[in-house]
Amino acid sequence: MSIKIGILGYGNLGKGVECAIRQNEDMELAAVFTRRDPATVKILTEGAAVCRVEDVEAWKDKIDVMILCGGSATDLPEQTPKYAKLFNVIDSFDTHARIPEHFGNVDAAAKEGGNVGIISVGWDPGMFSLNRLYANAILPDGKDYTFWGKGVSQGHSDAIRRVEGVKDGKQYTIPVEAALEAVRNGENPELTTRQKHTRECFVVLEEGADAAKVEEEIKTMPNYFSDYDTTVHFISEEELKANHSGIPHGGFVLRSGKTGWNQENSHLIEYSLKLDSNPEFTSSVLIAYARAAYRLAKEGQSGCKTVFDIAPAYLSAKSGEELRKNLL
Ligand code: NAP
Repeated sequence: MSIKIGILGYGNLGKGVECAIRQNEDMELAAVFTRRDPATVKILTEGAAVCRVEDVEAWKDKIDVMILCGGSATDLPEQTPKYAKLFNVIDSFDTHARIPEHFGNVDAAAKEGGNVGIISVGWDPGMFSLNRLYANAILPDGKDYTFWGKGVSQGHSDAIRRVEGVKDGKQYTIPVEAALEAVRNGENPELTTRQKHTRECFVVLEEGADAAKVEEEIKTMPNYFSDYDTTVHFISEEELKANHSGIPHGGFVLRSGKTGWNQENSHLIEYSLKLDSNPEFTSSVLIAYARAAYRLAKEGQSGCKTVFDIAPAYLSAKSGEELRKNLL
């Protein structure tokens, strides 16, 4: 019997989840729920329903795990606690500073409904968090580093597009290679924001806009660009579409540490991701954790969990015996 998945919110992540279900034989898509008119939302899976989010309650016994694919800024803080009362839920909430508060809200709701909720699943937070935890537990005497990129930052691209005179734009976050190398060489550098990442912008100007003024405004924008070395390229709309319409991302989590009675030996742990599609990869992580939520719920557990609380074997479709034989 396969695990019945619901998708709530059909943007990049929603579509990514739909694709990932196809690669997991123990899962099937039951329905997609949207706040838009369902007639305007075209999905890829034959036989799966597209429903109004208002009708979700009727699906209470027909969906094993609901994957919440709304945005972190305003959708998930409201949606995850709301739907955790009705379903086992997974989300990819990525506003790091607000995770403790979100955890509390989802925990109360999931316990009330007798469901499991797994929050902040993806790559950061998610796989990067797990790797930070493993590395810290193994090398207590050490130093952590996280580098992001090369990849598209949605928030920074939005910020560029809000500048007067900008018609469209994309921003890439790029790790500084020299900083990465210094960490890999065990130099344990103290790195400022500017030393860790650079920002590269591709901008399409509005007709008659002043390029120098736009460039200055982007480079000096507080919080987004002023603390970084930023490069701005002006390109045509066609070029932006042809060369910059993907959503790649990735990055590196490193920890360097020492062991031995006199700290005589050095170690380096490195986990890296190079993703053609940030949302499709994130969705693939969501699906693995949906399997875990299903299993935990079957065991009678309830409440909110994060990736830290889930034992790895719960993620895999393979049996314990197969895992011990082939992957251990
Ligand atoms: P998105 O494409 O903007 O979709 C967000 C929501 O927008 C959808 O669920 C959809 O809900 C709504 N929407 C409204 N009009 C739409 C339209 N015309 N086309 C598509 N969607 C429309 O955002 P996303 O790329 O899926 O990312 C969602 C969140 O995932 C982000 O906010 C981010 O915080 C998180 N994320 C986390 C990680 C991680 O590593 N943890 C990685 C990547 C992303 P309705 O169907 O209800 O309208």
